Amino acid sequence: MIMKELNLDWSNLSFGYMKADYNVRCYYRNGEWSEVEVSDSEHITLHMAATCLHYGQEAFEGLKAFRGKDGKVRIFRLEANAERLQSTCDGIMMPQLPTEKFREMVTKVVKMNERFVPPYESGASLYIRPLLIGTGAQVGVHPADEYLFMVFVMPVGPYFKGGFAANPYVVIRQYDRSAPLGTGIYKVGGNYAASMKANKLAHDLGYSCEFYLDAKEKKYIDECGAANFFGIKDNTYVTPKSTSILPSITNKSLMQLAEDMGMKVERRQIPIEELDTFEEAGACGTAAVISPIERIDDLEMKRSYVIAKDGKPGPICRKLYDTLRGIQYGDIEDRYGWVTIVE
Ligand SMILES: *Cc1c(COP(=O)(O)O)cnc(C)c1O
Repeated sequence: MIMKELNLDWSNLSFGYMKADYNVRCYYRNGEWSEVEVSDSEHITLHMAATCLHYGQEAFEGLKAFRGKDGKVRIFRLEANAERLQSTCDGIMMPQLPTEKFREMVTKVVKMNERFVPPYESGASLYIRPLLIGTGAQVGVHPADEYLFMVFVMPVGPYFKGGFAANPYVVIRQYDRSAPLGTGIYKVGGNYAASMKANKLAHDLGYSCEFYLDAKEKKYIDECGAANFFGIKDNTYVTPKSTSILPSITNKSLMQLAEDMGMKVERRQIPIEELDTFEEAGACGTAAVISPIERIDDLEMKRSYVIAKDGKPGPICRKLYDTLRGIQYGDIEDRYGWVTIVE
């Protein structure tokens, strides 16, 4: 296959949709996953009674591929994403997509769109969006009998254009993203629909993102928008244990790296007042790896928890960030087999 070189302004890409050359699809029918199909269309045709449209039978994932100094393309934690998707499938009664199928499709779509993988120097990456939807028709509330799994990709810019920076967050008490025994632990579109008003409110108030407390007691830290929270103090990495937060793969990776750096790692409930005691804190996820937290304002309680006293990211956040990015780009040894090299 001869691929025309792309002339994109790699360093100035934002996080937005862009058409790539191909996407890959596979269908679940009669209890079986089909062979993989390649498409160059951005559209899908759906039955109007498809369960994804009415009852939210929809799951997605988000992962990235990076071009290294050696020109090789590396996909970060593909298996962990496949496993999380399987857990989401169980959560909303969809058939599990086998890890092998996930691997085949993700590597195929990256390879077929290789010219969209940004160059090493740009700090940009290829965002990979797997999507699994109920396509079978139902009007009663039942799981569909047919499903579509597809994967598409697009190049996205470096999250921090002006360098690694700290951001202010605001506690939102009037909306919940997810319930303690609800779907917060699954990566489903419904949680995002539930977060839109809170996100808009945070933006209208001039904050970068909303900060959620546990829905039941409004006492403990849950998530920072669509990212996990972690705090650093006394050489310890602390992250919430909660039944309503999404198990972030970035967070899991950072816990391992923190341990490797000789830190203690704690997963437990974090009362909001404890924010006062953290030396550093961050929001973590695939998009930014770490978005350091400058302060968290709790407007209703008329309190402000200032974490980055000088408004700048702290040294441990920076070290964790540099290490994880280093592994993703192939600059630092991949000790745990997190990276899949696309051959
Ligand atoms: C995807 C997501 C995250 C981040 O997970 P990563 O695997 O680190 O990208 C955190 N919170 C929510 C609600 C999410 O949907």
